[in-house]
Amino acid sequence: MQSRRRIYMDHHATTPVDRRVLEAMLPFFAEKFGNAASRHHPYGWEAADAVEQARTQVARLLNAQAREIIFTSGATEANNLALKGALEFYADRGNHIVTVATEHKSVLDVCAYLERTGKAAVTYLRVDRHGLVDPDDVRRALTPRTVLVSVMHANNEIGTIHELMEIARVVKAAGVLLHTDATQSVGKIAVDVESLGVDLLSLSGHKIYGPKGVGALYLRSQNRRVRLIPQIHGGGHERGLRSGTLNVPGIVGLGEACRIAGEERESEAQRVEALRDRLHEGLIRELDEVVLHGHPIRRLPGNLNVSFLDVDGESLLLALTDVAVSSGAACTSATLETSHVLRAIGVDEDTAQSSIRFGLGRFNTVDEVDYAVGRVVEEVKRLRALSPRYAARKRHKPPRP
Ligand SMILES: *Cc1c(COP(=O)(O)O)cnc(C)c1O
Repeated sequence: MQSRRRIYMDHHATTPVDRRVLEAMLPFFAEKFGNAASRHHPYGWEAADAVEQARTQVARLLNAQAREIIFTSGATEANNLALKGALEFYADRGNHIVTVATEHKSVLDVCAYLERTGKAAVTYLRVDRHGLVDPDDVRRALTPRTVLVSVMHANNEIGTIHELMEIARVVKAAGVLLHTDATQSVGKIAVDVESLGVDLLSLSGHKIYGPKGVGALYLRSQNRRVRLIPQIHGGGHERGLRSGTLNVPGIVGLGEACRIAGEERESEAQRVEALRDRLHEGLIRELDEVVLHGHPIRRLPGNLNVSFLDVDGESLLLALTDVAVSSGAACTSATLETSHVLRAIGVDEDTAQSSIRFGLGRFNTVDEVDYAVGRVVEEVKRLRALSPRYAARKRHKPPRP
C-alpha cells in the first residue's frame, strides 16, 4: 500500500509556527531569559525591550498605538477581559450587552456566565442565511443601559466577515463601546482599528503563524479612552490590566508574526483565496449536492465550509486521516453537538451533520489542494454508495445534464 501523505487544512483551529517566528523566539528561552519586570539589570531590560518592540509590531498591524496593546494568554482571555472588564468598569451606565448568536464560545460562554450570575442582561442578535448581522438590528437592540456591543470580525466556522464599519457607526452614535473578536481576521484581511471604528479588539498568536498561549487585547486610548477593571490581579503588569510575568518568547513570536502578516498579508490572501477556489471548484466539478455555507463573497480567503449531502461528516473525517479538516467548529467536534453557527444561519440538522470545514493557509500548495480534492471525492463517493438516502435522492431527482 502506498504510504499516505499528511496535509493540514484546518487553519481556523490553529496554524503552524512560521520558521521566522520560531527563530525570533529562540533566544528568549535560555539566553535572554530575563523577566521583563526586572528593572535593575540588563537581563530585565533586554526582555522589556523585546516586549516593547513586539507591542509596536502588533500595534502597527492594527494601525493602533503601542500603549493600546495589552498582552494576554490568547484570544479567550482577551475576550474575557474585554467583556467582564468593561461591564464592571461601566457598571454605573448599565449592565446590558449586545452580541451575536454566531460568536465564538469564548464570547458566548462569558455572556452565559454573566447572565447566569445576574451580572448582565444579554441580547443575542440573529444573522441572515449568510451569517451577517444587520446593523439596523444592532441599533434596535441598544438600550440606555447598554454598555458594550461585541461582534466578531470574521467567523471561525463559515468565514463570514461582518460589516463592522456600519455596526461601529451605529454603536458609536449611541455612545456605546464596540468590541470585536478579530482572531480569525487579523493577518488575513485588513484590520485597521481606526477605519473599523472599534474600541476593543481581541487577537491570538496561534491563528496567525505565531505560538499558542499568547494573544492581545487592543484597548482604545485615542479619541476616547476605554477603561476596564482587571480580571487577573497581582504584580500590576500591563498597566495593571493583566498581571502575571510576561511570556516573553511568546510575545516576541506574536510580534514577529504580526510583522510578517503586515508585509505579506495582501499577496498571501490572494494566493490562499485562489487555492480555496481551486479546492471548491475541484469538489463541485466531481461531486453533486455540495452546499456552501457562509457568505459567497464576504468571506475569509482560506475558508471553505461545505456540506456533502447524505454523507455523515464524522465518517468522512474518520476516512480522511491524511487530510486534516474539521466538521463544524473545532470546539463543537469535541462535543459532537451540531454547530451553533450552522444552526444560526438556518442549516437543517442533516445538512449540518454533513458539513466539513476546510481552512487553507500560508504553506498549502496547489499540489496539496489537488490531492485533497482527489481524496475527498473518493471518500464522498464511497460513503454515498453506501447511503440509501443518497440513492433515494437520485431516484427523485434526475441527474444534472
Ligand atoms: C481560536 C479563536 C479564539 C480563541 O483563541 P485562543 O487564543 O485559542 O484562546 C477566539 N475567537 C475566535 C474567533 C477564534 O477563532
